[in-house]
Amino acid sequence: MIYFDNASTTKTDLEVEKKFLEYNEEYFANPSSVHELANSTNKMIEKSKLVILNKLNLNKDDYEVIFTSGATESNNLAIKGFYSRKNENSYIVTSSVEHPSIENTVLYINENFEKAIFVPCVKNGLFDYDELENILKTKKVSMITVMLVNNELGDILNLQKIRNLIDKYDKSIILFSDTTQAIGKIKFDYSILDMMSLSFHKIKGFKGCGILIKRKNIKLDPILVGGGQQNNIRSGTMNAPMYLANAFCLQLAMNNFENHRKNASQLKKYITEELQKVDEVHINTDLENSSDFILNFSLLKTKASVVVEALSNREIYVSTTSACSSHKTKFSKTVNCKFNDKHISENSIRLSFDGTESLDSGVEFVRVFKEILNDIKR
Ligand code: PMP
Repeated sequence: MIYFDNASTTKTDLEVEKKFLEYNEEYFANPSSVHELANSTNKMIEKSKLVILNKLNLNKDDYEVIFTSGATESNNLAIKGFYSRKNENSYIVTSSVEHPSIENTVLYINENFEKAIFVPCVKNGLFDYDELENILKTKKVSMITVMLVNNELGDILNLQKIRNLIDKYDKSIILFSDTTQAIGKIKFDYSILDMMSLSFHKIKGFKGCGILIKRKNIKLDPILVGGGQQNNIRSGTMNAPMYLANAFCLQLAMNNFENHRKNASQLKKYITEELQKVDEVHINTDLENSSDFILNFSLLKTKASVVVEALSNREIYVSTTSACSSHKTKFSKTVNCKFNDKHISENSIRLSFDGTESLDSGVEFVRVFKEILNDIKR
């Protein structure tokens, strides 16, 4: 089996599974209870939050971590939680290539306030920074939310440039980023962000668990109310063993980052060079400025869905569009936004790595891929 669909989800690391079992033995108490077992569990959760901030080089005096059920919830909480307090005439600005958990949350805000702006793509690029500058010159904006690494293409968006524009025009604007495909995958100074989100299953942790990190001075209204856990921002019994194991997983991801990145980079380079020799392949990822863990390309003469199915029959697992939109449509909005080409957008294939693969898996992928293309042509 070759699994190149890690941007959809990764296989949980065995060490993380082991840690979960250990933590589940020791820290099973409800952290909200009043006895000593609950206290020690609570202390461990607080410690794990500090580990996360430390690994991301974020100052614990400035930032706090909220555990959630995943990046979808974190993205909802960041945007809805912020805008439920903001009824004045101010805009939320986002890109046109966000994950649906951002896009649909912004649309939801728009239904209530009619104050959303989607910044368009530029030719061969995912974000029009000049257009953002025009918006900032003319409109009152209170939040900009732009992903750091695009989940379909792997292209990196220039959040430093956005931070510079915020500093130039209105320092009170909140810069929030969906960093789900970035943490543990690219080198980045996360302290230029005011809020960020992550799902642990993208970095070999457990599914159904994520975080929102925010500057402490940003006030959010909860979207889940109940027992008032996590400073009243996210109610519900805290899943201590899961949080602790996933915090450990983030630690592993950051410690192994350089090794995994190098590995993924070599694999991506090899496959890219081989694909570039196939005349019907169009590379969609920006090779100069992208995550080493994602490679997206389109087929100009063959249906991508047919090739993906044939690969799957040979136990090679890749994606067409992202997993979250692939059941709805075979058309990639993101690829279309970048290239404005219907055929390229309908025939994209995404390979995504976790950085532990051998180069042999790339050699095997290329061999089978070429074989399949030849078979289809015959
Ligand atoms: N944002 C991005 C960029 C993603 O890739 C994903 C997962 N596909 C999510 C958010 C949502 O993560 P989850 O489904 O774990 O909530």
